[in-house]
Amino acid sequence: MKKTAIITGSSKGIGAATAILFAQKGYNVVINYNDSYESATLLARSLSENGFSVTTQKANVANRLEAELLIKETLYKFGRIDVLVNNAGVAFEGLITQTDEVDYDRIMNINLKGVFNCCKAAAQVMVNQQSGKIINISSMWGETGASCEVAYSASKAGVIGLTKALAKELAPSGITVNAVTPGIIETSMNSNLSVEELTEFVESIPLGRMGTADEIAQAVYFLASENADYITGQILGVNGGYVI
Ligand code: NAP
Repeated sequence: MKKTAIITGSSKGIGAATAILFAQKGYNVVINYNDSYESATLLARSLSENGFSVTTQKANVANRLEAELLIKETLYKFGRIDVLVNNAGVAFEGLITQTDEVDYDRIMNINLKGVFNCCKAAAQVMVNQQSGKIINISSMWGETGASCEVAYSASKAGVIGLTKALAKELAPSGITVNAVTPGIIETSMNSNLSVEELTEFVESIPLGRMGTADEIAQAVYFLASENADYITGQILGVNGGYVI
């Protein structure tokens, strides 16, 4: 039976690369988006035209009911959920004194509560199946903390804590839960950085370059594969050696 993967926030960037890889590997793929209807639709269309099994589903993962609907619709369309990749996320840069409550709540609601919402809704399905793989996209800033990204770093550290706790809770049901912590990856999330800032970052990366969205997708695919059946509660850094 064909396996099914939900990739949250897969209208662009790391999520889109992950959706493409899973589709190419033979999964039914649910491309989730919130704002970017056009890029999600274009991606789904180009994959469908190449014979891959994909569908799109709008859902703001920060909204519990929409996250639940994402899981329900997937179950209705494909009958099972083998992989959930919690990738949807937003960044915010600024001093703590410039981070107001609205910014803080937005970051935490999307980056952390969104992961909680989707995990909670998918867990019931996966427990019934007695199988499943959950991969959460955190960030190396969740491990080390980034100056001027207090809310973002806290949300991503929260994802690491959630991953470890849920791995223990779901292991007896045959479900693994792991996280990937990307370094600096070439996506629109970094498009606000100046050439000088990017150059400075790249100079601090032992492998001497930014990562690509596909390199994160490959790590996610590994954790979702049978080769990773004995791996749970782990945090896989994909950062060119920035954090060792
Ligand atoms: P991106 O290109 O900005 O893509 C972000 C994705 O998240 C988009 O598809 C966006 O969809 C989706 N999204 C945002 N809010 C959402 C919501 N409320 N509900 C559903 N989807 C939502 O960023 P990216 O670089 O690919 O980032 C993907 C993940 O990797 C994020 O969790 C990010 O924190 C993490 N990460 C990125 C880097 C990096 O250097 N790029 C490093 C470490 C970690 P819509 O546009 O449709 O809303």
